[in-house]
Amino acid sequence: MADRLIYLPLGGAGEIGMNAYVYGYGAPGKERLILVDLGVTFGDMETSPGIDLIMPELTWLEQNRDRLEGIFITHGHEDHLGAVGHLWSRLDVPIYARLFTGTLCRLKMEDQGLPAETVMIVGPRPEVTQLGPFNVQFVPISHSIPESAALIIDTPAGRIVHTGDFKLDGTPVVGDPFNPVVWREIANEGRGIKVLTCDSTNIFSPHPGRSEATLANPILDWVMAQKNMVVATTFASNIARLKTLAEAATASGRKVCLLGRAMRRMVSVGLETGILTDFPETIGPDEATELPRNKVMLIVTGSQGERRAASAQLSRGRYLGLSLKEGDSFLFSSRTIPGNERAVNRIMNSLSELGVNVYDADDGTFHVSGHANRPDIQAMHELLQPDMVVPMHGEHMHLREQMLLAQEKGFASIIATDGTMVDLTGDAPQIVDQIESGRIYLDGSVLIGAMDGIVRDRIRMALNGHAMVSVIVDEDDKSCPMPGSN
Ligand SMILES: [Zn+2]
Ligand SMILES: [Zn+2]
Repeated sequence: MADRLIYLPLGGAGEIGMNAYVYGYGAPGKERLILVDLGVTFGDMETSPGIDLIMPELTWLEQNRDRLEGIFITHGHEDHLGAVGHLWSRLDVPIYARLFTGTLCRLKMEDQGLPAETVMIVGPRPEVTQLGPFNVQFVPISHSIPESAALIIDTPAGRIVHTGDFKLDGTPVVGDPFNPVVWREIANEGRGIKVLTCDSTNIFSPHPGRSEATLANPILDWVMAQKNMVVATTFASNIARLKTLAEAATASGRKVCLLGRAMRRMVSVGLETGILTDFPETIGPDEATELPRNKVMLIVTGSQGERRAASAQLSRGRYLGLSLKEGDSFLFSSRTIPGNERAVNRIMNSLSELGVNVYDADDGTFHVSGHANRPDIQAMHELLQPDMVVPMHGEHMHLREQMLLAQEKGFASIIATDGTMVDLTGDAPQIVDQIESGRIYLDGSVLIGAMDGIVRDRIRMALNGHAMVSVIVDEDDKSCPMPGSN
């Protein structure tokens, strides 16, 4: 049988989170495989009570492990690399990433006691990683974390561009700007682009996305206007935003104090890898308590209402000797991810009870998205002129909307959700198989199947209530029947 090119999402298609996409090339059933990204999703009380992390089920990949050549990680967000430490042992192949992302991957491996040298650091295009029938290049692309990369995957059947998460930002503050000249070149090389596998997250946002650089002035104006202590929270991985916030602090005569392990880790990896330069000098919490309140800005973790993060701790009173007071100001320079609204609201109300003025980014003044909006996605289609568009990184409705947009402009397209194997060899994508896909839960430190019953039992207990029976059995008294044994 003729060789074919296949695509198989195992996570991230039909949901936003736990990205894991397989590409294969070879004789049907014998294709050589690569995996792009290995991320997590966070659990919630309604569907997965007590679960910290959710990751893709990899049974199919484990069964075909001898065909797997390697894993490529596009960027350092948890939904793209968060499962590396937890699932790598099941696959046991080298991981490839650029320096900043690779350094984060190595920390993930070390966190689990795994060999960090499994993570190979590769440079951006024109460097090529050749694995089996695949020649892979990392192409710098803008997003809300430095060093994001799209992948060019060249195969005997043609060129795939896998965008990873991206936006069209010519001035991203930190990291690589989007460069249309480079992309035009990529589209015009050889036979052009066969497949564009494209981020769908913001397909429903009708206006062109805004640049990270547009936030500097509004944030500076805001900081200047505050009279007492200033606190700002955002995603720790949004290093450009951390820099914008810190620079605004310095320009207004404030010292910066970073609170939260993730925040300090990101800044130190940023400095170590040379991604982050001229970051203002920071002070520790001890020093911050000694300065006048109007000379301090805290940049803290917990923008999504995470209970143990610095934002939540500060909202409850004191954290590391620091406490917020009447007249202080707290800025959420972030979007609340759907599902986290209640947790974020709780923190805002607690801050309000302390007399703190709370500012959010709902009107877009203090936050821009890291994903391409509808006109940007369309611009990408038109710039690359692929034979076919495969929407990824989205819930079903996002995938469908991008498919319709692509088809409207004459590009072949398809909806392929997790577990759907698509043959990309011909002129249009064709579904050829349905693989069993699913989720694995991290329950404390144990990985369990989503269907294993533990979580189902918890939901049942939460909905129906539960009765507890405590029985004291005296082993010496054999005449006493065991309660509950009949
Ligand atoms: Zn993502
Ligand atoms: Zn991302």
